[in-house]
Amino acid sequence: MVEIIKKYKSSKYKGLMVDLDDTLITSNQVYDKAMKYTSSFVAQKFGLDKEAFYKLVQSKHEIIDHNFPTVHTRHSRILVYRMALDEMAINYDLGILPDIEDMYWEYFLNHVKVYPEVKDTLKKIRQAGVRIAIVSDGDLSLRIRKARKTGLTKLVDQIVASEEVIFEKPFSAIFTLTLSRLKLEPANCIMLGNNYKSDIRGAQLVGIRAGIFNPSTKSNLIGQDGTIVPDFTISRFSDILKELQIV
Ligand SMILES: [Mg+2]
Repeated sequence: MVEIIKKYKSSKYKGLMVDLDDTLITSNQVYDKAMKYTSSFVAQKFGLDKEAFYKLVQSKHEIIDHNFPTVHTRHSRILVYRMALDEMAINYDLGILPDIEDMYWEYFLNHVKVYPEVKDTLKKIRQAGVRIAIVSDGDLSLRIRKARKTGLTKLVDQIVASEEVIFEKPFSAIFTLTLSRLKLEPANCIMLGNNYKSDIRGAQLVGIRAGIFNPSTKSNLIGQDGTIVPDFTISRFSDILKELQIV
């Protein structure tokens, strides 16, 4: 511990900003399963073909995602299921919509996992006196629920949601709000995320050193062609300790 603190004093980094989905937790692996599970329930309830309804839900999800490209509405599931049910032209009680949404997120929260090394590494970072903020696109309530369910709320100092500043990453407001909450300057922080455009470009635009963690070729195509260059790349979460000059 003394050794860690000694090394930290020579480091200029006093804050870690970290993305939540697919950087700390395995979200992408679970979204689709949650959609399948929930679509199955709805299809069964209304006597619809399960596979066809699931495909319809997927297509509505793509529409919502594209129609609201920079605001947290794009993560809404209630809008997806409303569009899908409306297209089926069946009579349904509107009261079921929030229940479907709750079912989706309950499934997600019960199945999402923290990536290996994340918890131990976050503990070490805070032991070294570095403050940690989760910086995540979406509404604040769900950010906190995701972090709480995976045991992360106690391991970080702040959770900042794009809902608080309207626009999602890479817009700079979420990063500047995080800096003010951490009471730190851009030069004293590092950002770690899995998305070139949102996490890397966004942080770099406000002068924060930014690194990629374990990029998913599926979801983060923009910027992987070399148009966005991360300051560093790590494939093991604990490698962030070196970047923070803790070890
Ligand atoms: Mg992410």
